[in-house]
Amino acid sequence: MTVRTRIAPSPTGDPHVGTAYIALFNMCFARAQDGQFVLRIEDTDQQRSTPESEKAILDSLRWLGLDWDEGPDVEGPHGPYRQSERGDIYRKYCEQLVEKGHAFHCYRTADELEQLREELREAGRTALKPSDLALPAEEVEKRKTAGEPYVVRMNVPESGTCVVEDLLRGPIEIDWAQVDAQILLKSDGMPTYHLANVVDDHLMEITHVLRGEEWINSAPKHKLLYEYFGWEMPVLCHLPLLRNPDKTKLSKRKNPTSILYYQRAGFMPEALLNYLGRMGWSMPDESEKFTLDQMLEHFDIHRVSLGGPVFDVEKLSWLNGMWIRELENEQLADRLTQWMFNRDNLLQVLPHAKERMETFGDFAPLVAFLAAGQLPLTEASFADNKLELDDQKKLLQFALWRLEALRSWDKDSIFQTVKALATAMEIKLKDFNAPLFVAISGTTASFSVMDAMVLLGPDLTRARLRHAVDVLGGAGKKVLKRWEKEYAGLV
Ligand code: GLU
Repeated sequence: MTVRTRIAPSPTGDPHVGTAYIALFNMCFARAQDGQFVLRIEDTDQQRSTPESEKAILDSLRWLGLDWDEGPDVEGPHGPYRQSERGDIYRKYCEQLVEKGHAFHCYRTADELEQLREELREAGRTALKPSDLALPAEEVEKRKTAGEPYVVRMNVPESGTCVVEDLLRGPIEIDWAQVDAQILLKSDGMPTYHLANVVDDHLMEITHVLRGEEWINSAPKHKLLYEYFGWEMPVLCHLPLLRNPDKTKLSKRKNPTSILYYQRAGFMPEALLNYLGRMGWSMPDESEKFTLDQMLEHFDIHRVSLGGPVFDVEKLSWLNGMWIRELENEQLADRLTQWMFNRDNLLQVLPHAKERMETFGDFAPLVAFLAAGQLPLTEASFADNKLELDDQKKLLQFALWRLEALRSWDKDSIFQTVKALATAMEIKLKDFNAPLFVAISGTTASFSVMDAMVLLGPDLTRARLRHAVDVLGGAGKKVLKRWEKEYAGLV
């Protein structure tokens, strides 16, 4: 048997370090056994999936040095590798389940479902079962004849326990009482994650599914689907979730999570990959610094420990320093040029710097903030601005939320976003911009903050705003709640 693993990212946002971490382990697991590693795009959520996000995921995984044997960009014998192009396949298999009585058409309306959920809550239960959803046969017929929309749901047991075998965790028991009659096909004919994932893993001959532990609760549904189809289930292996230093689930509120941030902030891809390899896994000799080839050579999934691995930017920076020091000067010069100090970048920056230069010597200090990762800010950096520090902090958080939602990163869109927010908050643009200036460029004596944000790119800009909020004391849960309310009320 050829070992085949896969990574199945959903292209719905920035390329996440967690995706790279899971990809790395899948790739190592397969390659260490002369197997194959597949990349599949799970873009069935058509509202949230974008081609830009897909491209960013593929590009940043490649930047890290990961590669796959089959995928949407390299093709292969099991394509297409984008779920949005496989709709007919899912519908066909879903129909089989209905024919065999393992799934049913559900005509319940949104209002009825809300009512059913309310009743469920009152009864202290968690999952909607087929018996809850059932309608009298004549009512089904009536709705069907009227052409009302329906979804296809899977049948699930009402009670009992499901035992799922996990390669690292052994048997995991989950009560069927917690598992609902999952929707398999939505009313628009698109599959949900569960149906598409199981059908594809089978058709793509995946033998081992290594994925994040947040998917454990889906495993009973998947196991049941494999049984219904009469297919062999791949071996499941749920890897531990990456965590913030405070042990909470890794979140962009506490750590930059986008791979693009690390690229833009000047980390070496080898170092980031090396660090991800240290997440719950270690080399037999416990060495901190290793290459992908060394990891492959020594890879053993049983060396994964399940205690939540902490993704700590300070440790990553330290490791990155080790990687830098081992480069020859020639190599480092090439890396720096590639990263930032190249003609293309110079040409983008010069129009902004030129106006403020008297000598060439003015150039580096003027643009240093563009080539920095995080800026050495303190509260004092914001002290000369007109607004109170607390108001500056709130404004920065609000700006961050707005800019997180911004899809096109150009000067005009950024300017309109900032201006609209300043108006909504009833703050003069000049006073509004001052803390932004400090957060983005470390000083108010720089070129236009909008230009600076364009040059920095979305990831570094957002990370700097987040950092500035932290420097000003951050926001506790209570304050954040209050702010969220206020923010939602802005027009
Ligand atoms: N599309 C899922 C994700 O975004 C894949 C989960 C799995 O590996 O089954 O992570």
